[in-house]
Amino acid sequence: MPELPEVETVRSGLEKKIINCKIEEVKVLREKTLSNISVKEFCEKLKGQTFSEIKRKAKNLFLEMKSGLVIGVHLKMSGAFLIQPANEEIPKHTHIIFVLDNNLELRFKDLRAFGRMNLFSSWQEAISTASIIKLAPEPISKNFSLDYFKQALQKYKSPIKPLLLEQSKIVSGIGNIYADESLFLSGIQPTRMANSINETEAEKLYKALKTVIINSIKVGGTSIRDYVDTDGQLGNYALQLNVYGRKKQKCLVCESPIQFIKLGQRGTHFCSNCQT
Ligand SMILES: [Zn+2]
Repeated sequence: MPELPEVETVRSGLEKKIINCKIEEVKVLREKTLSNISVKEFCEKLKGQTFSEIKRKAKNLFLEMKSGLVIGVHLKMSGAFLIQPANEEIPKHTHIIFVLDNNLELRFKDLRAFGRMNLFSSWQEAISTASIIKLAPEPISKNFSLDYFKQALQKYKSPIKPLLLEQSKIVSGIGNIYADESLFLSGIQPTRMANSINETEAEKLYKALKTVIINSIKVGGTSIRDYVDTDGQLGNYALQLNVYGRKKQKCLVCESPIQFIKLGQRGTHFCSNCQT
């Protein structure tokens, strides 16, 4: 599943390439990809529209038009945008095609087909959906202050790792890889109760959440499975992972074997020596 940094990479990639491009035609090859609108209406409303801004909230992308219309996109497991010449063969699993006025096509490809698109009449409407309103602040947003974070941790007597993944509780935009990596960097075991985390640890975790996300955005997101960015290029954050995906391998700091457990149904990696 693409996490916040990958989605941000997609956002900035789209921003560089489709702003001011006009949609000449929309082709929907898989009806189910649209969730709040019919194929006919989606195609009719978007024909002739021009992209003006690409926004993101957590893992949701919003493609805003000059008219105010907004396409909401969730990539889910494997959704990806490709920008390709119109005469280039359409890749397998392409579900939606936006024919642009510069001989390019914006193609939405999704192997597992969980990705969804919505059409909203305005930005206000786009962000008023329940799933967006209840999002906690992102690690890189202004609302995510150290004081806020310390206080939020004290509210929960439950393991920290699953809590970091719950988008509406303490923080949003942190997925499985980044939760494991942040906890390693701050020396906290994933099973620790949130309210047992002391001030010094909270500060370390606060910094780690920011660092992991910022570094990852810089290098274009992690690539674990079939994620591709707008150029079809693989991200390369995977090279910098300390614990994620390193079950039974030596810890890069102390050489103890990396532990693997299931926590809240998610695979969880940590070093039982470096993390307490
Ligand atoms: Zn270690």
